[in-house]
Amino acid sequence: MIKKKYIRRLMVSPGSKVSLKQYDTGWAQDDELKRVGKDAIKERAAEILEANRASLAESQELLWASNLYSILIVLQGMDTSGKDGTIKHVMAGVNPQGCRVTSFKVPTSEETDHNFLWRYTRALPARGEIGIFNRSYYEDVLVVKVHPELLDNQQLPPGKRGDKFWNARYDDINAFERHLVQNGTFIMKFFLHISREEQKKRLLDRLEDKEKYWKFALSDLAERQFWDDYQTAYEMMLSKTSTDTAPWYIIPADYKWIARSLIADIISTKIRSLDLKYPEVAEETLKQLEVAREKLASE
Ligand code: AMP
Ligand code: MG
Repeated sequence: MIKKKYIRRLMVSPGSKVSLKQYDTGWAQDDELKRVGKDAIKERAAEILEANRASLAESQELLWASNLYSILIVLQGMDTSGKDGTIKHVMAGVNPQGCRVTSFKVPTSEETDHNFLWRYTRALPARGEIGIFNRSYYEDVLVVKVHPELLDNQQLPPGKRGDKFWNARYDDINAFERHLVQNGTFIMKFFLHISREEQKKRLLDRLEDKEKYWKFALSDLAERQFWDDYQTAYEMMLSKTSTDTAPWYIIPADYKWIARSLIADIISTKIRSLDLKYPEVAEETLKQLEVAREKLASE
């Protein structure tokens, strides 16, 4: 598994002020890794992903059987940062019955007719389930903060939309997550951190490969013009909403194999740490099972 010190470095300490420039988006996170070299790390990352996939599948069975907790995984990141691919590769092997992925798009009018957390609440995982949010309520302090005119569609009571307004949203989110945690949901939040250059490469890729045309949206190019505003909104979000119980991890994402193996490792380590057990069967039930077994065997 991945060394704790690397994971710790990616976790945003509650209350700290994040500057994204200080987080590398590449594979060479420090001198030790540089010495190991890219090819060796890539190979190791693939092994880690594979091992964690198996471990995740196993722990999900336990999560499902014990029916006590839920896991909520939040994925955020700029366009092309690899959210969809992460879901596909990290969750491969997990029983679809206990796993729910929701991708959040521009809200519908029914959704904006409710408080901003409403649509996310409806998609929360039940006990025993892993829920994955591909984008989330954090869009309401990201895209909406970068384009405050979107608030005009949200049917909100009148008022200024300054710092006080946005701080209230961070507070609401923290309170919402606290409520979930207190009621048995474990929350892990991942920001897939890519560089501007890597996004350009990936967008060009989508424009040069016929089979990737479908992934390209003209709006991706428009949003790219707001890169710096997004980085600022992300920094604010990471600083204000990383908590002990629902921490943010800043995942270097210019290389997909690094991002995926890190996320798989963090999730499976967390679920394993819950030390879940299959439910105990009562003495009386054991007797009934034995009777049933004998009856069936002697048919
Ligand atoms: P994609 O993830 O590429 O399918 O794109 C989904 C789009 O929906 C992105 O452009 C998001 O910014 C947008 N979106 C998601 N949530 C919200 C929201 N709460 N308000 C406005 N736009 C949103
Ligand atoms: Mg897109």
